[in-house]
Amino acid sequence: MKFATKAIHAGQAADAATGATIVPIYQTSTFTQERVGVHKGFEYSRSDNPTRTALQECLASLENGKYALAFASGLAANMGVLSLLSPGDKIAAVADLYGGTFRIFEKILRPLGIETSYIGGDGEGGFLKAAEGAKMLWIESPTNPTLRVSDIAKLGRLAKREGLIFVVDNTFATPAAQTPLDLGADIVVHSTTKYMAGHSDTIGGAAVFNDEALYGKVKFYQNAAGAVPGIFDSFLVLRGLKTLELRMKRHEENALAVAKFLESHAKVRKVNYPGLPSNPQYALAKRQMKNFGGMISFEIAGGAKAAKKFIGKLKLFSLAESLGGVESLVSLPAEMTHASIPRKERLARGISDGLIRLSVGIEDVSDLVSDISAALK
Ligand code: PLP
Repeated sequence: MKFATKAIHAGQAADAATGATIVPIYQTSTFTQERVGVHKGFEYSRSDNPTRTALQECLASLENGKYALAFASGLAANMGVLSLLSPGDKIAAVADLYGGTFRIFEKILRPLGIETSYIGGDGEGGFLKAAEGAKMLWIESPTNPTLRVSDIAKLGRLAKREGLIFVVDNTFATPAAQTPLDLGADIVVHSTTKYMAGHSDTIGGAAVFNDEALYGKVKFYQNAAGAVPGIFDSFLVLRGLKTLELRMKRHEENALAVAKFLESHAKVRKVNYPGLPSNPQYALAKRQMKNFGGMISFEIAGGAKAAKKFIGKLKLFSLAESLGGVESLVSLPAEMTHASIPRKERLARGISDGLIRLSVGIEDVSDLVSDISAALK
């Protein structure tokens, strides 16, 4: 089955009990057993729930994986995957990461004796230095918020050679653009809060696997630690997935038009969008991604002060954390999503005080460009 068909059908056969065409919201904490230990496969909704099972099967299918686990948030999914590590283990990670993931690495794992080295510099040298003695390689591509792209297949080969568990956060790209498991990743993680659910009305996360042993360990953690998504939230993510491919096409179309407009504007210094032919990583992004997504970041002349003035003048872009919903959002990463990264490290990662991030929605693009144009005046 092709992507758009899987999004609508994988894990979503008509309900066996009632014939309901759409997977029902099984809003129950527990399941009545016929006799002790004899049941229909469900005992307690922290362990498993049919609505969540449908979501997990659909997520696995879209990422070309065998197994998926849904979590209460993207960060809960990260913690699930990081439960594979023990004190003394080391992580190698791309330097440019979502602030919340960085916070887990530095504020939760480091005090427990799990250290992270960040991959500095380009090429294999930087990777090898960070990967020395590491057990896990963790990347985002494109990154949040500078939209840098990593060569996933190349890193997959290096990770395999060095024996690392290779984790790719696919939140920004989505499986409509790239399926990292096909490129050598061992685990894909998501904040399903974003494009996957797509309507800014739920918080969720997921981890997807091909390897049964890795899946089994994280599944144990999912039940044992208990950060599972609510049942209605599972339904919302599953419903969002049905239109993922359509939405991503429109997000990309709109983002490209906005990026081109910004690039041509005299007050704009730099635009980060992998789909711009002028982007130094355009060739890699084009080879690796079927869709460049809806995220853009850019710098305007005048730094943080000018950025705040611009943000204040926008009418259609809401000033809000998060991304990936149908509506357009704007944020200032240095003071919002990435405030948990110390300023010096933030600047070293290319996140200046005035860097503006846009999540370009699926509104009519002429309205979006007019809004930005007016705010830049
Ligand atoms: N990964 C990325 C790339 C993100 O942008 C985010 C949130 O912004 C997360 C993970 C965390 O997801 P959540 O907010 O659902 O916990």
